[in-house]
Parts: sequence; C-alpha cells; structure tokens
Amino acid sequence: MGFMTTTLASTHPVETVHGHRVPTGLFIGGDWRTTDSTFTVLDPATTGHIADVSDAGAAEALAALDAAHAVRDEWRRVTPRARAGLFGEAYRLLRSRAEAFAAVMTAESGKPLAESRAEFNLSAEFFLWYTEQIAHLHGTYAPASHGGYRVVTTHQPVGPALLITPWNFPMLMIARKAGAALAAGCPVIVKSAKETPLTCALFVETLREAGFPAGVVNLVHTTSSSAVSAALMADPRLRKISFTGSTGVGSTLLAQAAPGILNASMELGGDGPFIVLEDADVELAAKQAVVCKFRNAGQACVAANRIIVHRAVAEEFTKRFVALTEQLRVGNGFDDGVDVGPIISARQLDGVSELVDTLRGLDSELLTGGNALPGDGFFFAPTVFRVNGRPTELCSRELFAPVATIYQVESTSEAIEFANDTRYGLAAYVFTRDLSRAVAVGERLDFGMVGINRGIMADPAAAFGGVKASGLGREGGHDAIYDYLEPKYLALTVDEEAGLA
Ligand code: NAD
Repeated sequence: MGFMTTTLASTHPVETVHGHRVPTGLFIGGDWRTTDSTFTVLDPATTGHIADVSDAGAAEALAALDAAHAVRDEWRRVTPRARAGLFGEAYRLLRSRAEAFAAVMTAESGKPLAESRAEFNLSAEFFLWYTEQIAHLHGTYAPASHGGYRVVTTHQPVGPALLITPWNFPMLMIARKAGAALAAGCPVIVKSAKETPLTCALFVETLREAGFPAGVVNLVHTTSSSAVSAALMADPRLRKISFTGSTGVGSTLLAQAAPGILNASMELGGDGPFIVLEDADVELAAKQAVVCKFRNAGQACVAANRIIVHRAVAEEFTKRFVALTEQLRVGNGFDDGVDVGPIISARQLDGVSELVDTLRGLDSELLTGGNALPGDGFFFAPTVFRVNGRPTELCSRELFAPVATIYQVESTSEAIEFANDTRYGLAAYVFTRDLSRAVAVGERLDFGMVGINRGIMADPAAAFGGVKASGLGREGGHDAIYDYLEPKYLALTVDEEAGLA
C-alpha cells in the first residue's frame, strides 16, 4: 500500500473516562486535531462533566473530505484480502477493549452496563460480518442478448461517504455504517452525535491502531450539525450520505442530497406496533414487551410504541406487563441491578413530561409511573397508560420514552389495520402460537421488519431497515454492503471467430 501510516501525536488530546483514555480531538487525515472551540459531554445520570471535545465547523469538515477524497482511489484498490486483514486486526483490538467501550457508552449515554455490553457485542458482530463479506463479492459474465459481445458486471465503491449517527446506540450505529462503507472500499467521514462523541472516538482510534491508513477514516464532532453536513453535501467530491436519526432531519438531508443526486441511505424513526393476539403466550408477550419498550429507557427506533392487545387477553396481559414494569430498577447505569438508565438530556426529559401530560389529557388511564424522579440525573419512572379509542394526537407519534401505551382491539384484522395506520414502517411485532397466522399477519404489516414472538431482532445476518417514512436502504444482511457499491457494466467486444482457425 502506498498510504501514509498514522502515528499518534505527542500532543494528542485525551480524557480519562472511567479509567479509559479516549481522544477528544477531531480525527482528520490520520491525525487527532484540536479546535479553539470545544463543547462539553455530560453524564446524564449525574449531570456531571465527562469531557470537553473539539467542535468542528465547515472548514474542519471540508478538511476531512479533502483527506477522504485524496485516498479514495488507493483505498478502493486495496485487495480484498488486505482490506479484510485490516478488518480482522480491528476486530481483534475491538474485542480486547470490550469493557472500555461498555464503560464509555454507559458514561455518556446513561444506558445500563449490561445493555452497553450487549450493544458492544452486537457492534463487533456487525463488524465481523462485513469483514467476512469483503472477499466474497461477486460479479457476473453473460453473453449479450444477440451475441457479439459479453456483459461483464462488477461493483465499485460509491466514493467518500458521510456517516451521521445518533446518540441512542452510539457504537452500533458507527460500527454498522463504517463497517459496510469501509468494507466496500469507501473512505468515510463520521459525524458523531454531540451527546455521545466519545464512543465514536474510541472506535476510530481503534481502527487507527489496527492500521487503517490516513484519510480512510475521519471523525468530526460538532454542535453545528446542519452547517457541517450542508457544506459537505454541497461538495461534489462527497458521493454518499448515510444517516440514522429522526425522520424530520432525514427529510431535510434528502432535500440537500437532491441537487447533487447524492446516493442516500436513511434509517429513520419508527412507531412500532406490538400486537398480542388472543392465542398468544401472554407471559412471554408481557416479558418481551417490557424489553422491547424499556430497553435504553424507551429511546430506541424499534421500541414497542403502540401495544395492541386482543380483548380476550387484554386484562391478563396488562396485569402482567404492569407488574413487570413496576419491578424495573431505575438508576445510574454503573450500579448493579439497574434495568433502566436516565433519559439522554434535560431537553428530552422535558419532552417525556410533555408526552405524559398529553396522555393524561386524553381518554386514558395511568396504570403506573407518570413522573420524573428526584435527583441530579434525567430520570423518569417507567410509565404505562391504557388508551381508549385511537387519539389522533398519538397517530404516527414516536414516543421515544419509557412510556408504554396499551390499546385494545376486537379482532386480528382490526389489529393489522390499526398497526398500519401510521406514516412509519420500521419494526412491528406479533405474538401468537399459530405460526401460519404469524406469517399471514407479518406479511400484511407494512413494516420493514416483523418480530414473531420476540421483541428484539437486530442481527448482522438480517437486513435492518424500514419502509415509508422510516427510511431507505438496509444495514446488515447479504445486501447491505451494496448500499456502498455501484454496479459497473463493461461491454466486452468479442470476435467469436478470431484466432480460432
Ligand atoms: P436527530 O435526527 O435529532 O439526530 C441524529 C443525528 O443527526 C445527530 O448526529 C445530530 O447531530 C444530526 N443532525 C441533527 N440535525 C441535523 C441537520 N440539520 N443536518 C445534519 N445532521 C443533523 O435524532 P436523535 O434525536 O439523535 O435520534 C433519535 C431518532 O433517531 C429517533 O427518531 C429514532 O427513531 C431514530 N433512530 C433510527 C434508527 C434506525 O435504525 N431506523 C436507529 C436509531 C435511532
């Protein structure tokens, strides 16, 4: 490889987070760089200071694009085996840092350590999945329809990619996007979420140590997301945007991508219906609903958003679900036995209180919770409402909070109709003991993913993503890498008689 290798500058700025050293600068062209302005990362469980990190503007973002663009040809020419070798080393290093990643994630996102460890494991598995795919991409060779030449197709990397990640799964989102992009041969510019930049920094530093060449991986943190992404997207050298976040921001980014016909992948919001039919294993459904709803304090795109229960089992389900919810222990994610951590920020906590006020004002019944918890952190009690009717205020509303809403239906067809009555189409869930019925219902749900008798389903082997306002493209599975590749067709003239005499 003719790349520059990267070395750690002696002035390399770091912060020690729960005993682990994490870079606090921007990573551009193989160097950790600082900026004059910084912003503070807070621990949502204590509101305490964790670190001050560099705050990029458009100039730093464009410097990252300069670096990515400069190496794009060299990076795509790295042989599959050599690229897979770098990935293998990175995977080994990632695994050796499992506890550092878990601690940093819990510190800045607040999620319980057990959830951070689970997220780390899933992230590492995604990375491994793409490692394994690198040497297994195929092209085609076929005769043209009427002979005379050959149709040869291969795939080429799209080019420099901007990866914008959210705070709720700080490691999974970067591992899933950067894994696919780098495996495909695209250099990347990662934009972290300002609430959780340190997990991204640790990830990028691990890739640097694994030997990823300068310019191939770049990282910017910023409080000016819109200025940074607008500058990058207006530059024709950027060839791809992959975004995970809210549907509103996704829609703005798609509009910004339009003038340059920029290749775009979008993982957006959800309104997950969680359907419990009358023949369901109610105990299993209640347990899975608790995980699906309260994991990450409800701040998940695939969370159960509307729990839709057949009248025949509504009473029993609700009783079990509320009892399990009341057993959840809320607290600092570093404490033993904690199930639910804090909400990410004061602003989000205010949003949860407003949501609960809205729910109280509807034809509904508060079954448990309903209030913020005293103390320094941003804690909210796990909350359950029974909601009567189909209030328009809740149509297509992503709750994104530790607040569950239970609705009752009279039939399977009503459940399907209500479930589909949303602008979103990310994840849905069905609980029934009848497999044929599960498949029939699953096929009628307008969602990209359907969990059958389970409330968690992310896996590297599965195509993760949504339809309708939940997004474009998939992450994971056999095809996700093609989101970062473009087919290239070579028409090969063949004189079929040449040289045969
Ligand atoms: P968000 O849209 O506010 O922010 C996501 C990212 O976009 C952050 O990095 C943020 O800094 C950046 N951003 C915000 N405004 C921007 C702009 N104008 N230009 C460029 N970048 C901008 O979302 P959030 O609150 O961080 O995350 C929650 C949302 O993400 C929820 O809607 C959730 O459903 C969704 N989400 C979806 C998936 C999925 O895979 N479908 C996964 C996780 C989260």
